[in-house]
Amino acid sequence: MQNISKTLTLAIITAVTIAACNTTHEEKPMEDNVLLQEWTGSYGGVPAFDKMKLEDVKPAMLRGMELHLIEINKIATNEDAPTFENTIEELERAGQELNRAFTYYGILSGNMSSPEFREVQAELSPLLSEYQTKITQNSTLFYRIKTVYDAAKAKPLESEQQRVIELIYKEFEMNGAQLDAAQKAEYAGISTQLSTLYNTFSSNVLHDEENYVTYLTAEQLGGLPEGFIKSAASIAADKGQEGKYAITNSRSSMDPFLTYATDRELRKQVWTNYYSRGDNGDEYDNNTLIAEILQLRRKKVEILGYKNFAEWRLQDRMAKNPENALALMEAVWSASIARVDEEVADMQAVADSEGATLENSSADRSIEPWDYRFYAEKVRKEKYGLNSEEVKQYLQLDKLTEAMHYVASRLFDYEFTPLAEGTIPVYHPDVRVWEVTHKTTGENVGLWYLDPYAREGKRSGAWANKFRSHTTLDGEKNVLATNNSNFVKPAEGEALLVSWDDATTFFHEFGHALHFFSSNVKYPTLNGGVRDYTEFQSQLLERWLSTDEVINNYLVHNKTGEPMPAALVQKIKNAATFNQGFSTTEYLASALMDMKFHLADPTNMDVNKFERETLAELKMPKELPMRHRTPHFGHVFSGEGYATAYYGYMWADVLTADAAEAFAEAPGGFYDKELAAKLVKYLFAPRNAIDPAEAYRLFRGRDATIEPLMRDRGFPVGE
Ligand SMILES: [Zn+2]
Repeated sequence: MQNISKTLTLAIITAVTIAACNTTHEEKPMEDNVLLQEWTGSYGGVPAFDKMKLEDVKPAMLRGMELHLIEINKIATNEDAPTFENTIEELERAGQELNRAFTYYGILSGNMSSPEFREVQAELSPLLSEYQTKITQNSTLFYRIKTVYDAAKAKPLESEQQRVIELIYKEFEMNGAQLDAAQKAEYAGISTQLSTLYNTFSSNVLHDEENYVTYLTAEQLGGLPEGFIKSAASIAADKGQEGKYAITNSRSSMDPFLTYATDRELRKQVWTNYYSRGDNGDEYDNNTLIAEILQLRRKKVEILGYKNFAEWRLQDRMAKNPENALALMEAVWSASIARVDEEVADMQAVADSEGATLENSSADRSIEPWDYRFYAEKVRKEKYGLNSEEVKQYLQLDKLTEAMHYVASRLFDYEFTPLAEGTIPVYHPDVRVWEVTHKTTGENVGLWYLDPYAREGKRSGAWANKFRSHTTLDGEKNVLATNNSNFVKPAEGEALLVSWDDATTFFHEFGHALHFFSSNVKYPTLNGGVRDYTEFQSQLLERWLSTDEVINNYLVHNKTGEPMPAALVQKIKNAATFNQGFSTTEYLASALMDMKFHLADPTNMDVNKFERETLAELKMPKELPMRHRTPHFGHVFSGEGYATAYYGYMWADVLTADAAEAFAEAPGGFYDKELAAKLVKYLFAPRNAIDPAEAYRLFRGRDATIEPLMRDRGFPVGE
């Protein structure tokens, strides 16, 4: 995923760090707070992570907001007639101090969090939302933006400027800038109410995650891998249950437990805890809260003149409207549930053949949701003979890093050179930095920061972020990009071995970084991401992991140095479509539910009943649940980032599969020079300067079709 720490509004209306400019703007006095100060040193200036202190964060953020609002006010009250230069360009320049403060804030929140920081975060979050409203509801400012926008509609500006004014105008319009005073107050009131409900939603889920731990005794560990048992023991000890084994109510604990545990009753218990989060009928139950959220969202967009939240949300996305998003999901749905039937039949055969030898086996051996992962794993071993431990021996993190740099050199003409420790300030000794240059010209592109290891206070998962984006508004700025993961740090001198999935994710995040590096836009706003498009570039880059060039040179055995054998590569490729019924169906059920909830009439809605009836209408197979059941669907109800947007992963995957086929068919395959040049020129470098659908057409010569995605997942193509 890509870290979008600020809301879209903020991303668009605050310029992305532009250092000292040599135009006629008056010099600003230097701020005392180090987090607000301009970045100094080589490589165009870099964040002073060595000087970062927690106590500076809150004052820096407050002062940063204040400074930005002063700038905004100056732009809004300019006595000259509004022009693109004195309004839009100035908006793009404003907010640099706050942007710098946000860089440190982002590190402290994602990479180095602490209870003390979370207190600061809680204090700042309502203030940040007020600050945003002050900008989006500034009618003097909006009047100037609208004047420039109307003029550009009559007489278009050059293409980048035209795109910027359209995006900024839309952003303000979507956030209520054109409303009258009474409507604005109502709109702001609803926004505040919603932000409180989002918070409560999250803390309710968190409560149920922390309070439904299953403690096992040594006799209840049947089937579980040794590593899993060890970590379950240490978690239990941490929780004061020495000698027991803790299965926490989180995906990372639940998923392997259900895959390996032989005790069926325990599987049922762990499954039930997990899929009941936020749905336990107590004070932490989220069902009424969701009904309230849906009503308020509907009310909010009705003030703006939209029929429903989905229509409002999707207008500036690649899908454009809910109908297009639904059409894609429905096109894949029937193939997906048909595949579930086949998978269940395969699993049933295994279960039947095991008969009564299973522990706690009841007379009824039909596959239940808590059996799916368990029997799928058995089928996987039987059908594909793939041993994940064997694969791991060929996946060393250092070699994978070299492999990614190799791919970047072939496709993007980049060279990655490691910088000696101490060259650049970092916030933790584990963070390493590379200089990125253009191979041919030697020109600096930017710096790549890699923070690979898990540590206390670092959020889970993997993500990409940037400290500075490319712009040429006031001279060319280079890019500071970062990749983050949570690998367990190996002992000194030992190779870090990772799974195939983790290697894929490592490439994925690097795809986001390349997307940042390759930007050639002039205006900061054009670096913004479009939610259903921005995962495409990163998903596509995953495909280079299994190219021959990477396998033969970088996927080498950690002891013998031999490249991964062809037979093993083939096994991995064969297994790629395995269990796609399960993963596609669990994902799509959530994505469809997200959309349908926001299209339905929210008056007096019974959330539980709506979920049940919708699943029945969809003919959801009874053997598996949605990936995220509604009462704990944080993407959709703990904020607005992914509300009516969960479909976006599949939307992007249609493009990914289609673009990957273009490479597979090219004369030079995945390293075809001509196609690689088009990839950079149309799909990466323009960021959001070109409409995504148009950009894809320029790359492919046509729109993407759904068939490659169906083939990738092993689903039948065409009726
Ligand atoms: Zn991503």
